[in-house]
Amino acid sequence: MSLAELRELEAAHVVGTYARSPVEFVRGDGPYLYDEHGSEYLDMLCGISVTNLGHCHPRVVAAVREQAGVLMHVSNLFYTEPAMRLAGELAQSSLGGKVFFCNSGAEANEAAIKLARRARPAGEIIVLHGAFHGRTYGALSATPQESKQAPFAPLVPGFRAVVAEPEAIRQAVGERTAAVLLEPIQGESGVHVVPDEVLIAARESCDATGAALIFDEVQSGMGRTGTLWAYEATPVRPDAMTVAKALGGGLPIGALVTGERLADELGTGDHGSTFAGGPVVSAAARAALAATDDAALLAGVRADGELLAGRLARTPGVREVRGRGLMLAAEIDGDAPAVARHALEHEQLIVNATGPSTLRLLPPLTAGRGLIETAADRLERAIAACAPDGASG
Ligand SMILES: *Cc1c(COP(=O)(O)O)cnc(C)c1O
Repeated sequence: MSLAELRELEAAHVVGTYARSPVEFVRGDGPYLYDEHGSEYLDMLCGISVTNLGHCHPRVVAAVREQAGVLMHVSNLFYTEPAMRLAGELAQSSLGGKVFFCNSGAEANEAAIKLARRARPAGEIIVLHGAFHGRTYGALSATPQESKQAPFAPLVPGFRAVVAEPEAIRQAVGERTAAVLLEPIQGESGVHVVPDEVLIAARESCDATGAALIFDEVQSGMGRTGTLWAYEATPVRPDAMTVAKALGGGLPIGALVTGERLADELGTGDHGSTFAGGPVVSAAARAALAATDDAALLAGVRADGELLAGRLARTPGVREVRGRGLMLAAEIDGDAPAVARHALEHEQLIVNATGPSTLRLLPPLTAGRGLIETAADRLERAIAACAPDGASG
């Protein structure tokens, strides 16, 4: 089917919630995507930090193929080995408590919100300005963005947004606070690293009041920032975290992971999901987690991240570079959506604009120096081609 035909079908029959770029992808291989004409694109977005290991990673593909031919679904009324083993591996690689499986990032945050309220009934959830926690009602209520919330009022009560400053956190958290929920590195807002002193204030305030500190690692987790979990590079450890995006190596799976203290707050009947922790996605996630929890790969992410951040900082037209590891944003003088469009159409480079002047790069963790240099070269040309009149670069 041609792209024109796909667009006709979309216009007629697909709810118009997405602004898609005019390209159809038919195949992926490692860092590359191929369109219907066979053209090769360098993917520096990874399906929004989902295909962190590259497209169709052989270990993930093998796990899915094998499990799909054996058992696909039984529900959580029974045991399966992939889900129980994944829970053990996920907990042992992080907070050491227990895991609740679901199917997406928003659902993982829903579970986290329920966990926090179960531990402190009717308690308030403190979130940060600029946060993005998902589109379902609880997660949306934790996402203090007027344009996303206003059309869908009334929201879930009991959420309060504060600025990411230590004093604001200390003032907001009290005996009635159920949780502080935050992304250690905000993704959708354009990659803003929450300062250590804010994380420390949140940790201390939660310790003093018994509130839960919950990290949303849906985007920052699974090796993205150069450690398996972003919290590992911060001075604090959360009481629970949420994971999704890259967890399934490309398949949809989410999880709430707790530490010891909150491990038994949710009990029988408190929460559930029909598909959650199914054998195929669990097998995929076991393969993805094993491939990602690798010292050499994570060291490569840190090295490639420094290389890319350095290249971006030296690129004419780039005003600021933010992020950690391979979760990076560049603030540019020009029109970021125009640059992303130009990069796609003329440089066969996939990057993403999160705002009018913000480009986000989420390269494959397996990219390596050569591809990072190639991506930086292509992006530099795209930025130059779209430079505003009179710009020196
Ligand atoms: C993407 C994202 C979500 C929502 O995940 P979905 O799978 O789209 O529901 C939540 N939190 C963060 C930090 C995200 O980046």
